Amino acid sequence: MSDSIAQAIASVTAGIRAAEAAAGRAAGSVRLLAVSKTFPASAVAEAYAAGQRAFGENYVQELQGKAAELAALDIEWHFIGPLQSNKTRIVAETAHWVHSIERLKIAQRLSEQRPSSLPPLQVCIQLNVSGEQSKSGCQPHEARELAHAVAALPGLQLRGLMCIPEATDNAETLAAQFALLSGVRDELQQDGLKLDTVSMGMSSDMAQAIAAGSTMVRVGTAIFGARHYSQ
Ligand SMILES: *Cc1c(COP(=O)(O)O)cnc(C)c1O
Repeated sequence: MSDSIAQAIASVTAGIRAAEAAAGRAAGSVRLLAVSKTFPASAVAEAYAAGQRAFGENYVQELQGKAAELAALDIEWHFIGPLQSNKTRIVAETAHWVHSIERLKIAQRLSEQRPSSLPPLQVCIQLNVSGEQSKSGCQPHEARELAHAVAALPGLQLRGLMCIPEATDNAETLAAQFALLSGVRDELQQDGLKLDTVSMGMSSDMAQAIAAGSTMVRVGTAIFGARHYSQ
């Protein structure tokens, strides 16, 4: 088991390096976030032993449990799932990053609840780039107003944008949706916001996301295997 997680991380990392090179980008310009949702703390510990430090979780309870269990390890926890207002406190107290900011109200709560003993919570605004009603994220035309409001909150540091494109094999559709996010990022940079993070790309579309400018890929299945949901 240890071997297989370590080997999977090595092979995903090799894939990232190859995609960076193919896109003419510097080696090491894309970070790997290991998405450990549904997997036990022991799997996170194995990935940690293989050198992985940044982990992504989608469910507040799971984040809380694993962060407590693995408190002795120097892990950077990223919350990447939908966040309701009654759960913001746990995330504000536990996570280092939140990728899924889509409303100002949630951002305000996170800012207020961030303990002053901790550095600001690092956040990305999630954009709905596919236009699908079922998808989380703010609409691209709402991003500018939200970004400026989030950037002004004292407990948060706005780092960039995140998206989950449509689940499709169509390379052109994917490229257009990734490009939409990069375009919004460029606009915000021109406004003077310093954004260094483009969170896009998962197990199946990592290379396309890197070609489109991703700086952080969120990879679960290719590291930990297929997920089994118990509920
Ligand atoms: C589950 C999840 C991932 C990882 O997806 P894989 O296809 O397993 O790599 C990435 N980002 C978000 C927001 C997720 O919920």
